[in-house]
Amino acid sequence: MIVVMREDASDAQIQAISNRIRGMGFDIHPDRGANRTVLGVIGDTSRLDPRSLEMEEGVAEVLRVTEPYKLASRAFHPNDTVIRIGDVAIGGDEVIVIAGPCAVENAEQIRETASRVRQAGARILRGGAFKPRTSPYSFQGLGEKGLELLRDAAREQDMLCVSEVMEPAYVRSVADRVDIVQVGARNMQNFPLLKEVGRIDKPVLLKRGMSATIEELLMAAEYIMASGNPRVMLCERGIRTFETYTRNTMDISAIPVVKKRSHLPILADPSHGTGRRDKVAPMARAAVAAGADGLIIEVHTHPDQALSDGPQSLYPDRFAALMEELKTIAWAIGRRIGAGSDREPERNR
Ligand code: PEP
Ligand code: MN
Repeated sequence: MIVVMREDASDAQIQAISNRIRGMGFDIHPDRGANRTVLGVIGDTSRLDPRSLEMEEGVAEVLRVTEPYKLASRAFHPNDTVIRIGDVAIGGDEVIVIAGPCAVENAEQIRETASRVRQAGARILRGGAFKPRTSPYSFQGLGEKGLELLRDAAREQDMLCVSEVMEPAYVRSVADRVDIVQVGARNMQNFPLLKEVGRIDKPVLLKRGMSATIEELLMAAEYIMASGNPRVMLCERGIRTFETYTRNTMDISAIPVVKKRSHLPILADPSHGTGRRDKVAPMARAAVAAGADGLIIEVHTHPDQALSDGPQSLYPDRFAALMEELKTIAWAIGRRIGAGSDREPERNR
C-alpha cells in the first residue's frame, strides 16, 4: 500500500501518519520526491483500511499496490533511481557503457582491453573471474587473482569495474575488490545469493534469468532490496525461445516494460542477448533507442583466442565505431553517451 501525501503536507503531518502506521506493526519506506512525499507501507496490508488513512491530515490518497514487488516498484518510488559511484551516475541522462572481455584471462589481456574500451568511451570495465560455464571442462575463471587483475586494469584507466559472484560465501571477497557486483542469469533466483548481496554496501547488477519473466526479475530485485541494499540495476540479456539462429532472443521490449513498472535502472547486454558478433551492434543501437540506461558489451583484443564467448566478443575497433553510432542515437532521444558526448554528434551538425 502507498500513502501519497499532499504537496503542501508538513513534516509534522508526515511524521504523525508514519508513526501511526508503524504503531500498527508495519514498516515505512518514505520517498521524498521534488513535489510530494510518498510513504510505502510494507507488510500484510490486507488488514489496513485505506479510508481510515485517507482521513489523516496531509494525505492526498491511499493506493493499494497490486504488484507483488514493492520496493522495486515505481508506485513506491515515482522518480527514477540514479546509482552514483564516484563520478559515474547510472540511471541519469548519460547512457553508461560497461565493456570488457567475458573472462579475465591474464594481465596483458585485461590491461590492453581496458585501455582500448576506455579510449572509446566506456566508463566501467567488465571481466568475469568466477565463470558460470555449461561444461565443467570449460575455463572456470581465474578466481580471486582474476578480480585483482580486473581491479588493477580498471584503476590504471580510471575506470570502475564489475564482476560476477556465484556463491554466497564469496560475496564479501568479490565486493571488496570490485565497484559493482554482478548476479548472473543462472543465479537470478539463487535466493541465498540474493539475500547476501542485499547485505553489502556495493551496487548490484542483476541479470534476467534466461527463462524468467519480467515480474520474476523484479521479485529478484525485491529480495536484494528487502535485505537492505537499494542500489540494484537490472539487465536484459536475452531469454530462451524456440529460435535457434541467435543464442538467446534479446527482449528489447523488456526495457520500456521495466521502465514503466520500476524506478530501477535497466541495462541491456546485446552480447549474451544474441551470441553473435555481427548482431551485437544492431541490438545495442536498438536498446539505447528503447531507453536503456546502459549497455554491457563483451570486447576482446583477440576473440579467436578467447577462453570464453569469443564468437560474441567485439574487436576493439568495432566497439569504438559502435560508440560513435550510439552517440547519434543517444542525442536523438535527449541523452548522451561516452566522453564529451553532450555535444551534437559530428554527422548531425
Ligand atoms: C557474463 O556476463 O559473462 C555472463 C555469464 O552473463 P549471463 O549471466 O547473462 O549469461
Ligand atoms: Mn560471457
